Amino acid sequence: MISVVGSVNVDLAVRVPHLPRPGETVQGEDAQVGLGGKGANQAVAAARLGADVGLVAAVGVDAFGRLALEQLAREGVRTARVKQSPRPTGLALIGVDASGQNSILVSPGANADLEPEDLDEAALAGSPWVAVQLEIPRPTWRRALAAAREAGCRVALNASPVAPGLDLPDLEGADWLIVNEVEAAQLLRVEPTPDPRRALEYARRLTGCVANAVVTLGEQGAVFAGAAGEGHAAGRPVRAVDTTGAGDTFSGALVVALSEGASAAEAVGFANAAAALATTRTGAAAAMPRRAELEGHWPG
Ligand code: ADP
Repeated sequence: MISVVGSVNVDLAVRVPHLPRPGETVQGEDAQVGLGGKGANQAVAAARLGADVGLVAAVGVDAFGRLALEQLAREGVRTARVKQSPRPTGLALIGVDASGQNSILVSPGANADLEPEDLDEAALAGSPWVAVQLEIPRPTWRRALAAAREAGCRVALNASPVAPGLDLPDLEGADWLIVNEVEAAQLLRVEPTPDPRRALEYARRLTGCVANAVVTLGEQGAVFAGAAGEGHAAGRPVRAVDTTGAGDTFSGALVVALSEGASAAEAVGFANAAAALATTRTGAAAAMPRRAELEGHWPG
């Protein structure tokens, strides 16, 4: 089993002619209601690719919490370790304008209630691989890294979002660090670069405190460096219509491939293929590919 430790949100998205200014009300199209949050998204990505996935997270005792749990169960994600919090379920209110630009209000709600105590020995039992992201309180994700190490699990850490003041040593203990080019630059206190050669240099520098680092580069794919080798896996040429959730699909797919024993180059190539497919459809979880769609893309 792969354990995913992270956030669960319900996303409410509305297309509007323009994003509202302070005090303004703008009428939009019919709302789209979907499962979101990096934890839930990466759990769904991995489950759709055939993995047995358990989610360690928190939702509220409310209608959105029930909706999230139902959707996770429908995707085959185990939810026994999703705790019910007295706080409201995490919510993202997303406005998208005619040019595709968005404004997002996030209320972490119950996600802020996932505590280090929720990462007890049983939480990660039977999971050789654990996937962690940073949309939960810092003491909780730090505990997840420590608990995984104590239990002998391998950890894939998607260091997103990078909060001000986050330092590389905070991420110590991860076997794989996954960041996009902006997050890599934030962690290294340098300028972001879409250039694969410079990004590879960044990936090498990120491996000070983690065994391996992957820097994703949008349509240019991803570079990786570290104990398992280094290289650049070119992006898959696709007609991208919506890149929401591409990063989460990449992280989920990478963990699935690594848990199946793929080499670094194979795993990054597989994650590229899965994430590229996700960009060809609208939505986050809804756009994620199933294993059968990736036949021919595996291995490498
Ligand atoms: P994030 O969504 O976190 O900002 P990226 O934009 O780097 O991260 O995208 C993550 C991964 O999704 C990339 O490494 C790549 O595999 C895939 N991807 C994203 N955009 C495209 C695209 N336009 N064409 C093909 N693949 C893409």
